[in-house]
Amino acid sequence: MRASSLLINTTRERPAEAELTSHALMLRAGMLRQLASGIFSWLPLGLRTVRRIEQIVREEMNRAGAAEIMMPAVQPAELWQESGRWQIYGPELLRLEDRHGRAYCVGPTHEEVVTDIARACVRSWRQLPCNLYQIQTKFRDEVRPRFGVMRSREFVMKDAYSFDADAAGAKRSYQIMRDAYVRIFDRIGLDYRVVEADVGAIGGSFSEEFLALADCGEAVIGYTDGDYATNLEQVPCSPPAAAQRPDPGEKMEEFATPGVATIDELDQFVGGIDPGRSIKTMIVTGEAGSAALILPGNAELSLAKASRLEQVGFGAALAEDDFVRKTVGAGFGSLGPVGMSLPVIADASLASAADFFCGANRDGYHLRGVNFGRDLPEPRFADLRMAVAGEVAPDGRPLKLRRGIEVGQIFNLGTKYSQAMAARIEGDDNVLRPMVMGCYGIGITRIVAAAIEQFNDEAGIVFPESIAPFIVAVLPLGKSPEVMQAAESLYAALNESGIDCLLEDRGLRAGAAFADLDLLGIPHRLVVSERSLAAGKVEHKARHTGAVSMLEMADAPAQVRAMLAAKKP
Ligand code: ATP
Ligand code: MG
Repeated sequence: MRASSLLINTTRERPAEAELTSHALMLRAGMLRQLASGIFSWLPLGLRTVRRIEQIVREEMNRAGAAEIMMPAVQPAELWQESGRWQIYGPELLRLEDRHGRAYCVGPTHEEVVTDIARACVRSWRQLPCNLYQIQTKFRDEVRPRFGVMRSREFVMKDAYSFDADAAGAKRSYQIMRDAYVRIFDRIGLDYRVVEADVGAIGGSFSEEFLALADCGEAVIGYTDGDYATNLEQVPCSPPAAAQRPDPGEKMEEFATPGVATIDELDQFVGGIDPGRSIKTMIVTGEAGSAALILPGNAELSLAKASRLEQVGFGAALAEDDFVRKTVGAGFGSLGPVGMSLPVIADASLASAADFFCGANRDGYHLRGVNFGRDLPEPRFADLRMAVAGEVAPDGRPLKLRRGIEVGQIFNLGTKYSQAMAARIEGDDNVLRPMVMGCYGIGITRIVAAAIEQFNDEAGIVFPESIAPFIVAVLPLGKSPEVMQAAESLYAALNESGIDCLLEDRGLRAGAAFADLDLLGIPHRLVVSERSLAAGKVEHKARHTGAVSMLEMADAPAQVRAMLAAKKP
């Protein structure tokens, strides 16, 4: 294609609204444009990269035996009521009503719709296994849309759903998809890890995430030098050494702590508290109810672990301010387990805590000298905290941490949806049983951002050939008709040989044209100038190494093709 027809608008300055390099580069390169918070239009260059990712995903899905379908974006509430998710999927679900007052949502995911298809269309166990996928726009009303398309409200996802007659079949389907995911991310060229993950709001029994390594990632991987790698939220904390809990040594007393709202402020106010003697209290709410969770002041709560508590249930989140005030009578900064009306569950590391500090459930007051069993009932203990670097991981090695961007997640769902929605199949023994499902997501548009996070330098994006908007750019320098003519023929020859080629025909000054091509990240650049033409040559520059060489003009398409082939595994 010709640069003049692609609405290329590049900018030199980093846009103020972009926190991440990838977002800044995408805006500077004119790949996309924000329409509203978390809602974007893809412009020609950006969309080409999206399409290339889709193509890789589509090829690998087809190769794995999945069949492409297209489900509607708008879904009737009844289906979600059947699965039970209408009630529990929180404010992320965009709900709407039609003119007849019927309720709908804009699909954040498609388990309900696909299960409805399967219960109608799968008539016999002979049609199983069956795997259906689509590449489609999702909507999730994210609390904090940010980082451009990394966490947007509207985004493109590839979602696949497998149906099997039994658990063994479902396990095979899961493995086939897992292998396909590995091929997809290898082909794109991302540096990624596969980690065991929380099943979250999708549900099911087992799940893994594909995380592209990047410091800006929101997911943290807990891993070791062995094979161990798990989403940090899930890393079990080693049980504390069985220390004897000392007898209470102090009497409980309340003291005024004006303006103290955090553990650090309390520590300063009191003049230093031994670690392990200050306790923080967090009220969380999930599908099953609310509870007060207590942790060491310096520990971080894992909401994934909280979701596993029977008192809380899945979807655990910190309770709203209003709820806390109504239930406890104090704000977040003054909460404590003494006299708490909600169930109190303590992190396992607190089992030997005595004479501790905590909030008094009265604004501006704390308690000291608090002891389990004397000042409050003996709590239930559970693993609630996030593991930290250096502690012993389940494989016995020291835990290390690294950040990643979730680009895909796969789930073994079991019969959660097929049971609720009666998607059953008769086996060869004539007994009706719910089909066993799996679901498999890839964030197509998020991958664009994740890839740019990994592939960039000071001059701009350094796309791998796998997902570049164009493989080669031909740039004629100067205004001579011969140069233009030669560039046009080269452009035609490259296209003819099946190489996606951009002709930089905007008549920019050399410096501006070079800068733009560097920013856009096109892997190969061919410059036609009067001087090179006189020698029958064209200058080649590789974007990722910066290496420059002169190619015979007539031979250039073949040489570029050879460079591309040389990189293929
Ligand atoms: P996250 O934890 O990042 O919110 P998720 O676990 O809710 O993601 P899934 O339901 O597993 O997401 O969706 C499948 C894939 O869709 C994710 O792995 C991710 O790549 C992509 N995705 C999810 N939410 C967004 C979003 N808000 N913006 C862009 N991509 C998204
Ligand atoms: Mg996920």
